[in-house]
Amino acid sequence: MLHLLRQVVEEVNSTRDLQASLRTVVGRIRAGMNVQVCSVFLWDAHVNRYVLMATDGLSADAIGKVTLTQNEGLIALVGKREEPLNLSDATRHPNYHHVPGLGEEPFKSLLAVPIIHHRKVLGVMTIQRTEPGRFGDSEEAFMVTLSAQLAGVIAHAEATGALSGLNLMGGEQLDVRFAGVAGSQGVAIGKAHVLVPPSDLNSVRYRPARDIAAELALFENALTKVRSELTATRERLRSELRPEELALFNVYVGILEDRALGDAVVELIKKGEWAQSALATVMRRYIDHFESIEDDYLRERAADMRDLGRRVLSHLQASVPDVAIPDHAILVGEEISPTVFGDLAAGRIAAIVCTTGSANSHVAILARALAIPTIMGVQELPWQGLQGEELVVDGYRGHVYYRLSAEKRQYFESICKEEAEREADLESLTDVASETSDGVAISLMVNTGLQTDVVRSQNKGADGVGLFRTEVPFMMRDRFPSEDEQAKIYRAQLEAFAPLPVTMRMLDVGGDKSLDYFPIVEDNPFLGWRGIRVMLDHPELFMVQIRAMLRASLNLNNLKVMLPMVTSVSEVEEALAIIHRAVLELNEEGVAVNLPEVGVMVEVPSAVYLVKEFATQIDFISVGSNDLTQYLLAVDRNNPRVANIYDSLHPAVLKALKMVIDAANEGGIPVSLCGELAGDPLGAVTLVGLGYRHLSMSSSNLLRVKSVLRQIDSGWAHTIASGLLHLDDPKVVRSTLRLALRKAGIPLTDLGILPS
Ligand code: PEP
Ligand code: MG
Repeated sequence: MLHLLRQVVEEVNSTRDLQASLRTVVGRIRAGMNVQVCSVFLWDAHVNRYVLMATDGLSADAIGKVTLTQNEGLIALVGKREEPLNLSDATRHPNYHHVPGLGEEPFKSLLAVPIIHHRKVLGVMTIQRTEPGRFGDSEEAFMVTLSAQLAGVIAHAEATGALSGLNLMGGEQLDVRFAGVAGSQGVAIGKAHVLVPPSDLNSVRYRPARDIAAELALFENALTKVRSELTATRERLRSELRPEELALFNVYVGILEDRALGDAVVELIKKGEWAQSALATVMRRYIDHFESIEDDYLRERAADMRDLGRRVLSHLQASVPDVAIPDHAILVGEEISPTVFGDLAAGRIAAIVCTTGSANSHVAILARALAIPTIMGVQELPWQGLQGEELVVDGYRGHVYYRLSAEKRQYFESICKEEAEREADLESLTDVASETSDGVAISLMVNTGLQTDVVRSQNKGADGVGLFRTEVPFMMRDRFPSEDEQAKIYRAQLEAFAPLPVTMRMLDVGGDKSLDYFPIVEDNPFLGWRGIRVMLDHPELFMVQIRAMLRASLNLNNLKVMLPMVTSVSEVEEALAIIHRAVLELNEEGVAVNLPEVGVMVEVPSAVYLVKEFATQIDFISVGSNDLTQYLLAVDRNNPRVANIYDSLHPAVLKALKMVIDAANEGGIPVSLCGELAGDPLGAVTLVGLGYRHLSMSSSNLLRVKSVLRQIDSGWAHTIASGLLHLDDPKVVRSTLRLALRKAGIPLTDLGILPS
C-alpha cells in the first residue's frame, strides 16, 4: 500500500497535465485496491461545479463532461460534510443521484472521500465495487491517507495549470489569484523577476519549452562545458590524487558521454519541456535508482549523480538571460536573500512575492520599512514559470493576481492613486507634535537597519531610533565586519540622529536571520542558538561590536545599547560585565567614552516575569512584540501555515503587555515597544491605552500612527484597552477596536485599514 501511495503522489507531483496524471492515478488505485471503479471529481470554482476529471471503470466519455452542483448527489454530500461516506449500496442512499451516461448502474458499494487542502474541499475521490458491502476499515483508512497526500499536490498542480489561463474544463480564466500572507501594505503592478536559488535539482519545476531547438542546444552546450571542466580538473589534480580518486572523474565523464542519460533528457525536451526540468526529472530517476540499491558502494553513486546533475543545471541556469534585476520589477522567489537588500534599498523594486515566510519574517519587516508592497508564504505559487509575466501585488489582502481583466486593472490602478494621495496628506503631519487629543505626549521612534532608513526616518520627523537592527549590515556582507567597519556604520546612524537617542541592539542572529558565513543549522532555530545566547558564547564578537558602538558614540553621547532574546538575569549580568570591560579598555586606550544606557528586550515569556529584577540592573526595557507573540502563542512567526493564528492583539499577548508596563512602572524603569504592533494603528491605540508612551516602528508607518493618536483621547484609549483584556479572541479584539474608532469618527481607510 505504501508503494502505491508513493507512486500515486509522485505521478501527480511530476505532472505537467493534471488531467492526464489523474487518469494514470485512478488506474493505479483501481488495480492496487482491487476495485472495479476509481474516479476523481474536482471542484471548479469558476463554474461552481464538481467536474469528473478522471475515471477508470465508469464511462470514459463522461470525463470533463459530467458535472455536479454543490447539492447534487453523494459527491456533493461528501464535499459538504467533509468526511468519508462508506456505503454498502449507494443506489439506496436518499442522496443518490443517477447521472445518465455515466455508467454507474452495475456498481453497488461505494467509498467516497473528500480531498481537502488547508480546510478547502478540492474534490472527492471514489472507489466502487459491483458487489454490495461496505469497504473495510483499512481500505477506508488508506483512501483517507491517500487523499490527504494527494490534496497538496493537486492544489499545486491546479495552481500551475492556472498559469495556462484555462480552468479545469478548458474555459478561459482571467484574474488568476494566489493567496498568501500580507507582508507589507500597498499595491504594485509590474513584471515578475524570478530569483532562482542556486542549482538545486529538487527546486526545478516543469515549464513548457518556448523554443525546443534552443533548449536542446542549451542542454548540449551545458554537457560539453561540464565534460571539459571535469577533464581540466582531472588533469590539474593528476599528480595530487590517488588513482582511484582520479578514476572517479573518468566515471563522471563516462556517465556524461553515455548517451542513455543524454538521450532521456533530449526525449523530454522534444516532448516540449524546458531543459532544466527535463534534466531534473532524468537525474532524479537515476538518483532514486542508485539510492534503492542494496550494495553500499553503488548506493553512494547517488551522491555522484546529484553532484553531476547540479553541475549541468548550474550551466543551464547561467544561460538564463536577464540576471540583472530590471527597474520596477516584482521580485518573486522561494526566499529573498540578503544579496538583494541593496536593490531593495535603492528603491528600484516595485514589490516582493515570497513563497515561504510570513508577515513577521525579517524580509517582510525590511520591506515594510521601505514601503515595498510584499506578500509572503504564497505556497502554491508556481513561481518558476513567471519570469517576465505581469503581476499585481495586493499587499493589503495578501493576494497576487495574474492575467488581469480590464475591470480589475482599473480597480488596482485607482487604489494606487488613492495611496499616493493618502501619503501626500500624511506629509503635513511631519512637524506637528505627537500627542493625543488631550495632550499626552507619545514619542514615536523608528526601527532602522539599512542606511537608507536614516533618510526616510528623518523625513518623517521621528524622535530617534528605538531599534537599530545591527544584524542587517552583517547580513549584507560575506564575512563579519571589522571593528573599524562597524564603527563607521554606527557613527553614521548616531550622527544622523544626534542629539536624539539611537538604540542599537547587539547582534541578533539565529532564528530566520542567518549569516552565510556563520551558518547555524538546527532543528528548532527559534528555540535555539539566537541573539544574546550566541553573543555570550562568542565574547570576542560581543567585544568587537560593543567597542565599535562605543567608539562611534564619542562626543555624541546619544547611544543606547539593547540586549536581544534575554531569558535570565544572569545573561544580563554577563553582558553588562563585557560592556563595562569595553568602556574601561577604551578609556585606557585614551578614548573617553561613557557607559551608555543599557536595556533589555522583553520578547521571551520568561522575561515578562523578570521585569522587576531587570529594573535593578539596567536602564530601560523595550518590548519585542514580534517574538513575544511567537513564543507566547507557540506560533512560528515565519510559517505561513500558521500565519492565521499569529496575532499580536491576542488577549494573552495583551495581558502580558499589561504585566510588563505595570512591573516597569513599579520598578521605576522606562519602557518602550519596538515590535510591529507599534506600527499598526490598531496596535498603537491599544498600547497607548495600556499606558505605553514610547513606540518604535517602521518609518513608513510613523505618520499613520501619529495621525490616529492625535485623534484619540488617552482616557478613552485606556477604557477601550481595559475592555480588550477581557475578550477571548484576537479577531474580536480587532473588530472591537475598529468599531470603537469608527464610533469615535476616525475614518479607518485614511489609516490604510481596509474593511475586514
Ligand atoms: C521583536 O521581536 O519584536 C523585535 C523587535 O525584534 P525582531 O523582529 O528583530 O526579532
Ligand atoms: Mg525579536
